[in-house]
Amino acid sequence: MKVLITGANRGLGLAFVQAWLRRGATVFAACRNPGTAQALNRLASDHPARLTLLPLDLGNPRSITALRAELGLLTDGLDRLFNNAGILVGGERFGHLDAETMSRSYAINVVGPVLLTQACADLLENGASPRVINLSSGLGSIGKVSAFTSPSYNASKAALNMWTRLLAQALNPRGILCFAVSPGWVRTDMGGEQADLSPDESVAGLIAATESADEVAQATLLGHDGKALPW
Ligand code: NAP
Repeated sequence: MKVLITGANRGLGLAFVQAWLRRGATVFAACRNPGTAQALNRLASDHPARLTLLPLDLGNPRSITALRAELGLLTDGLDRLFNNAGILVGGERFGHLDAETMSRSYAINVVGPVLLTQACADLLENGASPRVINLSSGLGSIGKVSAFTSPSYNASKAALNMWTRLLAQALNPRGILCFAVSPGWVRTDMGGEQADLSPDESVAGLIAATESADEVAQATLLGHDGKALPW
């Protein structure tokens, strides 16, 4: 199994790397600064043949092109792409919304993952039962909105949900399934210390859910427990 994971240096991304290494996979771990990613570098020295660190800044389309070029030197195929990296800009209030926060949230949480998926489509096409897994959020659920909190983040995840459905239309004919998943509320830098789940718990559930999911599940927002959430 060959797996590409973005935002691999901390939080859920790092837990995905560890989980896939435990499952015997070859992992391509993309992050902004591989040189300073201490936990990843420790893992790479434990698994030199199965873990490769690659630089990726999702806000820069040229970085996506460069990652794809480097990947092409390392492998002919990819079985899983986890579009995990994301940002949540806190403190937004109505009356003080700014274009920079809205645009940056869309660029990192939507444009980057879509361009990366497009860039890797040919590698995925060569993979075994290939799947794209987009890390969405319950906060992106339009049906559940009940407060004006983290609006740029929430709207970007709603857009990512739509893009996941659109990518499924483009990629299903090439044999590639596309899922939007919600990891639950997880104890990471983004989720905070009070969150319900450890990264390992969330990731174990997400891998189980997406490995067993079929084509029909692409039409749902999949929770870490495998249950469908409202769009
Ligand atoms: P996190 O702890 O804040 O980690 C975010 C990751 O994204 C980091 O590796 C970060 O890299 C990376 N990243 C940020 N900007 C980037 C960029 N421009 N290019 C490449 N990578 C970039 O977040 P998390 O909690 O692990 O969340 C992972 C995913 O799950 C996100 O998509 C998030 O929206 C989603 N999610 C999380 C929760 C939760 O409760 N934690 C709930 C729902 C959904 P740097 O270290 O370089 O900043």
